Amino acid sequence: KNIKKYFPIKGGILKHTVGHVKAVDDVSLSIKQGETLGLVGESGSGKSTLGRVILRLLEPTEGEIIFDKEDISHLSNRKLRNYRKNMQIVFQDPFASLNSKMSVGELIEEPLLVQSSATKPERKQKCIDLLEKVGLRASDRTKYPHEFSGGQRQRISIARALALNPKFIICDEPVSALDVSIQAQVLNLMADLQDEFNLTYLFIAHDLSVVKHISDRVAVMYLGRIAEIAPKKPLYDNPLHPYTKALLSSVPSTDVKHRREKIHLTGDLPSPADPPSGCAFRTRCIHAHEKCALERPELTDIGDGHYVACHLYDQGR
Ligand code: SF4
Ligand code: MG
Repeated sequence: KNIKKYFPIKGGILKHTVGHVKAVDDVSLSIKQGETLGLVGESGSGKSTLGRVILRLLEPTEGEIIFDKEDISHLSNRKLRNYRKNMQIVFQDPFASLNSKMSVGELIEEPLLVQSSATKPERKQKCIDLLEKVGLRASDRTKYPHEFSGGQRQRISIARALALNPKFIICDEPVSALDVSIQAQVLNLMADLQDEFNLTYLFIAHDLSVVKHISDRVAVMYLGRIAEIAPKKPLYDNPLHPYTKALLSSVPSTDVKHRREKIHLTGDLPSPADPPSGCAFRTRCIHAHEKCALERPELTDIGDGHYVACHLYDQGR
């Protein structure tokens, strides 16, 4: 609720704060149990920062994080440990996120060693079960990360994330570093595991095609704010925000009916240290008008769970 994450910018010879990068600027969203919320935006939109704030790997500048009806925003690290078991993250780059000096067994069993009372044989058995769940072999337990392909390493990361039976997993671009041919396999695995373990996902990606199949709802972020959030079908079939329309126009469609004219975004993402006044998207928006420079559009409910932050919809659809 109302999450802000501002990073100070230091400057001058005294290295004092001269401004802030508003990486996340007043974001509210909810994720239902068992659901997958896709979170999409260009790099620099604040989506990974938001993910880390939700897990409290980064402290929010402002706002509340409610997990299972409990406000965890101000819990001490010691109290947070109970929640941490329930919340895991799978990172984009399995090459960087797996310690190359640890065997697969050590990697997957480490969370159990640190945060559970499982005995050594129990940890080993759990590891073997998890390896099989993610499509690897029991004999892989004694190998090291470099002996695996990118897709297999991501399977190891997923097994590690599942070790403590979490309820909620933040998937931070888990397939972006993988070959396109491998992406679908890993996405299918994640969807199967979700059903089997009743997992809830926040699935972060930089393009709308990756999250299309796995998401129930999708949120689009731009410069630290939510531009649009809606259930999957209306978001893909009837996007409202000019930014969502532009992102979607670059998703290849096999469906002739839904083939769209490509909308090219002109200009770069403005700096989150110095965002445009009013609507942050106005420097790249073909519909920008006077009001857009003066007033920040609020996220507005236009019915059926569809919300959009754009002055074109101030009077509804
Ligand atoms: Fe474009 Fe204005 Fe809507 Fe922003 S508020 S997306 S600038 S039309
Ligand atoms: Mg699902």
